[in-house]
Amino acid sequence: MNEPGLRGPNAVAGLRGPNAVAGLRGPNAVAGLPLFRSGFATILGRPNVGKSTLLNAMLGSKVSIVSDKPQTTRTQVRGVLDRPDAQVVFVDTPGIHKPRTPAGERFNAAATSAVDDDVDVVLLVIDATAPLGTGDRFVTRRVPAERGLCVVNKVDKASRAQVLGQLAAAAELGLAEYFPVSAVKGTGLDALVEAIVARMPEGPRYYPEGTVTDVPDAFWVAELVREQLLAVTREELPHSIACRVTEWEWPRIRCEILVERESQKGIVIGRGGEVLKKVGTAVRGQLPDGAFLDLVVRVEPDWQRRPHALDRLGF
Ligand code: GDP
Ligand code: MG
Repeated sequence: MNEPGLRGPNAVAGLRGPNAVAGLRGPNAVAGLPLFRSGFATILGRPNVGKSTLLNAMLGSKVSIVSDKPQTTRTQVRGVLDRPDAQVVFVDTPGIHKPRTPAGERFNAAATSAVDDDVDVVLLVIDATAPLGTGDRFVTRRVPAERGLCVVNKVDKASRAQVLGQLAAAAELGLAEYFPVSAVKGTGLDALVEAIVARMPEGPRYYPEGTVTDVPDAFWVAELVREQLLAVTREELPHSIACRVTEWEWPRIRCEILVERESQKGIVIGRGGEVLKKVGTAVRGQLPDGAFLDLVVRVEPDWQRRPHALDRLGF
């Protein structure tokens, strides 16, 4: 996901902030001119610790889908925190886990490739209510200690003693700072956001003012469909579902739902089409008025194992 032109010397002129004019940066900055900070922050952590929820909460806007099923986020999702004094480009990643399929390997690659030298801050999210495990340590190995902030999430579900214990355990990971938060309740988020901004170097606005995400509309609609399907289906099905928008002629949007087996098709459609209807209604409720959403279910056996299918799905 390294589009040229989004940062550094190749940054598109029109995307730079008011303070980015050559000669006004760094040591040559005019005294009294407020500093504009900008940079990139990657969110890492085991599946289900609340990375996507945290991103949405920090932005105050839904840019990444959330579910109680692990491995919901499959690609990198970028969310932009845009303020008068700073712009932080967050990258939400799939949770890193032991891959069992080629699809799982790609989700991992999407997560680890989000940590490179261009990243100013890495947020390592851990769950306050679950003991630190090998999974967390596996992920931590990818976090540069001096740029790593540890976020202990879900403190709303944990006792005080549990939170303190988790902070103490996390301290052994040796990262730069530690933040107990609740992404759902909003607790501790202001302090976290301020710490992230404070770590950003002086820089330009990488995205136009007011940008919240760079997720393309078609991908986003497919994600919303998948989110609703995850909410209404159970067990093994979530991992078997992929969604993609195949036609976009506003207000008409056609979205294909791929499943791996004929039996799964029936579950997704539901008795008398009831499940699909529910999904369609819930997704339309999050789209601009007038959207016409056409949902089609197709069986594509083993889409997870076939590189072609993965390419077409954008993984
Ligand atoms: P991800 O896989 O790390 O992106 O996790 P998600 O953001 O999809 O969240 C996984 C589950 O944890 C969802 O059911 C969320 O509602 C829940 N969750 C996330 N943050 C919190 C939190 O602060 N408190 C509680 N109680 N639940 C949370
Ligand atoms: Mg996620």
